[in-house]
Amino acid sequence: MRKRSLALIFLCVQLGALLTGCAWRDAVDAAAPLTRTVFAMDTVMNLTVYGENGEAALAAAEEELYRLDAHLARGTEGSAVYALNRDGTVIDAEAADLLRVSGTIAEAAGGAFDPTVAPLLELWGFGSGAGEHRVPTPEELSAALAHVGAKQVHIDGEQVFLDLPAQLDLGGVAKGYAGTRVGQILRGSGAASAVIDLGGDVALLGGKPAGGAWRVAVKDPADEGAFLGVLETTGDVFVMTSGVYERYFEENGVRYHHILDPKTGYPADSGLVSATVICADGVWADALATACCVLGADDALAMRERLAAEGMPFDVILVTEDGRVLYTCDGFAPQAEGGYAFERVG
Ligand code: ADP
Ligand code: MG
Repeated sequence: MRKRSLALIFLCVQLGALLTGCAWRDAVDAAAPLTRTVFAMDTVMNLTVYGENGEAALAAAEEELYRLDAHLARGTEGSAVYALNRDGTVIDAEAADLLRVSGTIAEAAGGAFDPTVAPLLELWGFGSGAGEHRVPTPEELSAALAHVGAKQVHIDGEQVFLDLPAQLDLGGVAKGYAGTRVGQILRGSGAASAVIDLGGDVALLGGKPAGGAWRVAVKDPADEGAFLGVLETTGDVFVMTSGVYERYFEENGVRYHHILDPKTGYPADSGLVSATVICADGVWADALATACCVLGADDALAMRERLAAEGMPFDVILVTEDGRVLYTCDGFAPQAEGGYAFERVG
């Protein structure tokens, strides 16, 4: 098994010059950025902020990442999800809210995204423990599938109920939620703009400090040296990627990866190797990227049309097994609040 920690690397063209230690400094930018590296959620994260109270903002953001890691991890004793999976119920406003949104997304994605895939993940050895990777038998899969599905979860205010032995895994939304929370904290601390890199999943907050749009290069997740295109944005946008190459094992020459199709119980086999979602909402962006990998290009694009009509617009960059790059850009005006544009290169 191999975990590529940087599925998607953003090279902020302007920021990059600062970060790599060049003497370059935009004459209009009064403030230099402050940066912090945090290890949480099994990932190296890099936070960069501009504006007032940068150090305090970064310290608060780091604390929040540790808190979320402890609170949402299925395998961490004492986490809300651990308690829910053990007891079948938990009172926790945050988990309830996150699961409510997850349920809405699961429905919107026709079940392609489903946080109740945990028993399937366990069978394949992609679970919370250090399980052995192996190919489960069809009998094992169908037994586990009986407990997979949004109907296993019930939410009443701040209380969540789970029909045991169903089990939950929030791995498909944890980073999107973490990006959202860190963004809120940085903003609340006075940071005007920030780049929140959660190990390849990125949240961009605000435009460049001197005004105007960031231009960020989106790396090809499957090819270290290649770029998919350039994203121009004044923030706030989330750019989240799911890729089938991130975690996998091989048996008898067949590769089995960690994004599972909740309908079959097997690793998604949709013809896509990665899906990047650009969206104003972090949780949706994260979950939709996973859903797109399960759905494949045609159904992902159809879901996009549907959700745009329902008020959740997003764009996608899909990379197919045969190396094609399919992308959409509805041309959010990049200079508008939260706007962006994506231009394909390479
Ligand atoms: P990462 O968090 O490594 O960036 P993703 O965002 O693609 O990866 O999320 C993959 C994680 O989501 C898996 O490790 C697993 O915990 C969970 N998962 C896998 N398949 C599904 C699915 N169909 N629906 C919801 N969650 C899933
Ligand atoms: Mg994801």
